[in-house]
Amino acid sequence: MVRLIDVPTLQRFVRRRGMERVLAELADAIEAAYARWEEFDKSPRHATHFDHGVIELMPVADAHRYACKYVNGHPGNPKGGRMTVAALGILADVDSGYPVLVSEMTLLTALRTAAMSALVARYCARPDTASLALIGTGAQSEFQTLAIANERPLRQIRFYDVDPAAMEKYAFNLAEQNLELVPCDSIEQAVAGADLVSVATAIKDRQSLITPAMLRPGMHINAVGGDCPGKTELDPALLPACDIIVEYEPQTRIEGEIQGTEHPVTEFHEIVRGRRAGRLDDSSITLFDSVGFALEDHAALNWLYAQLSDATEVDLIPDAHDPRDLFAMLKPPTFGRAAGF
Ligand code: NAD
Repeated sequence: MVRLIDVPTLQRFVRRRGMERVLAELADAIEAAYARWEEFDKSPRHATHFDHGVIELMPVADAHRYACKYVNGHPGNPKGGRMTVAALGILADVDSGYPVLVSEMTLLTALRTAAMSALVARYCARPDTASLALIGTGAQSEFQTLAIANERPLRQIRFYDVDPAAMEKYAFNLAEQNLELVPCDSIEQAVAGADLVSVATAIKDRQSLITPAMLRPGMHINAVGGDCPGKTELDPALLPACDIIVEYEPQTRIEGEIQGTEHPVTEFHEIVRGRRAGRLDDSSITLFDSVGFALEDHAALNWLYAQLSDATEVDLIPDAHDPRDLFAMLKPPTFGRAAGF
């Protein structure tokens, strides 16, 4: 039997446990996975590109569990009432190769992406980070905000989206948080004075939303939306000024803000494992070039699997009486009678 975590199951679980606690537990689970970096069999994700989007498979394994996420990125989807990103996850037992969990992963991806942003902020953003500029108030945005607020003493959020309806939705969803929400008319206005800049737009193009002129010493940039070849958010001219942190360099060189460049980077596990500090000094500008790495999904799926041991199980793998007699499971009940078997 395979455990199944569908959307209602995840909704009930997160509401019961509380969003802040879920985000904090996920950040810790992801941190623990990065600390075990050498134990994972890693590869860049497999991407199938279309003119209007991408569909990706993201496998990773340690000695016990194999995880794989199916995820798309279709920036035009919201115009037709669909989400830009939708995902499903599978967790399997390495010993037998049998799947143990099939899970919805659209909500879980938003949670884990936010938890990862927050985890990097834990190591790289200045401890006194009080203002966050959030560019792009789509599906990921509230999760990003709350996760970062878990890690740093945020008081003010300055936010901007090209779509006023998205800004209204964001302000409504976070109205009850103890945060000063400042809607802005432009990216420049949002970023001015912010300690941490988080960018999560969805345009399949090379964009220059954040420019060198907007940088301030000590700033931390969390660049979430540039996650595909030909899809970036930052002016490449700002890269030399930044201390760039990536998840897994071979994948980020293909998909991230650094795609097609040779800018030096640090893989995040080096920081988690204490091989260098996250922030080298108060004035350095740290940039998390986030693309989303399978290790984070492995951590999230294993964490969820452990939390929801009472979830429904479904019959997805045939349980043949004789493992070599799969045929018996499909043959008609009368089959073989005429031959006298
Ligand atoms: P979404 O479509 O729900 O939201 C994107 C928002 O960006 C929209 O509200 C849109 O109006 C806004 N936008 C577009 N251009 C803009 C601009 N120039 N200035 C300001 N706002 C602008 O998408 P989402 O699910 O929130 O995802 C956001 C991005 O994050 C996508 O590109 C997605 O691929 C990426 N993503 C990355 C990870 C990761 O691990 N790095 C994980 C999930 C999603």
